[in-house]
Amino acid sequence: MGAKSKIVVVGSLNMDVVVKAKRPPRMGETILGDEVHFVPGGKGANQAVAAAKLGSEVTMIGSVGQDPFGHSLLRSLQEQGIRSQTVRVLPGVPTGVASIILAQEDNCIIVVSGANSHCQPEHVAEYQEYIKMADVVLLQLEIPLDTVQYAAQLAKELGKTVILNPAPAQNLPDTLLRNVDYITPNQSELELLTGISPEKEGLEAGMNQLLKRGVRHVITTLGREGAAVLSSGEPLVRVAGYRVPVVDTTGAGDAFNAGLACALAEQKRVKAAIDFAGKVAALAVTKLGAQPGMPTRAEVNCTFF
Ligand code: ATP
Repeated sequence: MGAKSKIVVVGSLNMDVVVKAKRPPRMGETILGDEVHFVPGGKGANQAVAAAKLGSEVTMIGSVGQDPFGHSLLRSLQEQGIRSQTVRVLPGVPTGVASIILAQEDNCIIVVSGANSHCQPEHVAEYQEYIKMADVVLLQLEIPLDTVQYAAQLAKELGKTVILNPAPAQNLPDTLLRNVDYITPNQSELELLTGISPEKEGLEAGMNQLLKRGVRHVITTLGREGAAVLSSGEPLVRVAGYRVPVVDTTGAGDAFNAGLACALAEQKRVKAAIDFAGKVAALAVTKLGAQPGMPTRAEVNCTFF
């Protein structure tokens, strides 16, 4: 294999505090739980770890607090060989935390963005040398929108491929969309972004709106059914998903985006890149946990030869 493909992720890092209990507490009630786990998470970090496991050279730009969670998240990036001196350690703000109560099959989650909400455009500017060297810049929406916009604009000015995973979905300005090569909503995010219901008005209507607003390729993920892509001037193409025994779908979207980024960085064409992303995501759902469940390149190659 030639030189490693280079991916820069600008995004969030969270510590997921997962508490297992028989049932969720009622308001005002204290109950005893069964287990607690501290699991590295955040869409940015999940996608960075997934891309590194696939063999890419990954740089993570983001911020954590100067606290034990922050140090632990940095260590987990380093263990995967991810460049993390580009993650700022901010005094006086807490590391982002997702507090997750797992009760039987269901869960409820409170996310406190903490340091993620202090990741500013200047921070991206400071590390632009890594964006200059990158093949692909991968973005999500768990850091301030200004920072996402700045990163997309800078990456485009430097001639890089920009992928935006629009999660959690929010209204996006066309000035951002014009700097995005690939946007990857799931179906509910597509509806939130466009106001067009895939169920009532068809998948293509919403995807077309995003193309008209300036994105070059819209890829809608369809869970176990795979994904659909619409590129300007071309018909809608569906790429089937892979049938696998499902253990935990947490992080399926993150695995898909990382797989897509790696494949595009390796110059695969869009349909082949989506197929590769589908393989990565399918393997991810066969294992428990977001980051631990991300497959290596060897696992992808051995499972789908
Ligand atoms: P999540 O929020 O659970 O991380 P998502 O809602 O962002 O995921 P999905 O469309 O559910 O995104 O899944 C992303 C991709 O993961 C799909 O396009 C598909 O390739 C793969 N995938 C998801 N669920 C399954 C499944 N049950 N079996 C096989 N592949 C799956």
